[in-house]
Amino acid sequence: MTEYGIVFNLDTCIGCRACQTACKVWNGLKAEETSFNPEGYTNPVDLSPNTWMIMEFLEGLMGDSPFWLFKKRQCMHCSEAPCAKACPVNAIEVHPEGAVVIRPDKCIGCRYCIEACPYDVPRYDPISNKVYKCTFCIDRVQNGLAPACVEACPTDALEFGPWEELLQKYRAAGYEVYGDNVNDYVGRTHYLYVTRKFRNFGAEEGKKWYEAIGFPENPTGALPLIEAGRNVGVGLAALAAVGAVAHAIYWRAKRIEERNKTEK
Ligand code: SF4
Ligand code: SF4
Ligand code: SF4
Repeated sequence: MTEYGIVFNLDTCIGCRACQTACKVWNGLKAEETSFNPEGYTNPVDLSPNTWMIMEFLEGLMGDSPFWLFKKRQCMHCSEAPCAKACPVNAIEVHPEGAVVIRPDKCIGCRYCIEACPYDVPRYDPISNKVYKCTFCIDRVQNGLAPACVEACPTDALEFGPWEELLQKYRAAGYEVYGDNVNDYVGRTHYLYVTRKFRNFGAEEGKKWYEAIGFPENPTGALPLIEAGRNVGVGLAALAAVGAVAHAIYWRAKRIEERNKTEK
């Protein structure tokens, strides 16, 4: 089975959002009501149960030169898939093609995956009590097609192919690559971000380019007790699953309470 990747090339993206539209169309996702965003051109401003990818518009000065930089944001499809490890009911599948996919029919809405994700990706829908995110278009990939966003891109800023071949190709061409070996928590990501042009972006603030576009230096999240349960056997894991769901409800309520206190 081939392990695939998707390259997002910061240097050739023109911010047209054809990928954002294609994602909606292929996955049959409802349109969002958008409003004026005083912070910039990113719209919708965030991911949601009905918006699985967005284009973020970053602007500023690099030296004396103004620039616009576009960043595609969606699930990174991590090889270690901490979201899947956190799920007490195994509702998140890790496919050999590289995709990390939530099964809505199995999801019980506990939201452990949200706390485990270091990239703030899965989004909870209170109406269905399910969590949603990008699927890597696994339905297309398993039928020999590239993901919908890749097909729609007019500048080839998105490229789909065998993960290792993509990595070698862009490294050989002198690109900086984010995602090939992030850390133990994430592993490698099946979305690879590449740039030559923006390699010094953020340097004036002492940041690496990928930190400056919003990736944490050492991405991590919260893995619940269920992980420990898995390591000591299936029976205990089942027990842990029941406990984890109860714990999740308590833990989440506590986090919301803490967040409310901080915001006051
Ligand atoms: S980015 Fe988040 S949701 Fe996507 S595979 Fe990684 S941990 Fe899971
Ligand atoms: S909300 Fe809970 S059950 Fe649903 S995918 Fe996330 S961790 Fe699994
Ligand atoms: S379709 Fe391609 S060029 Fe347009 S915003 Fe998406 S990645 Fe960038």
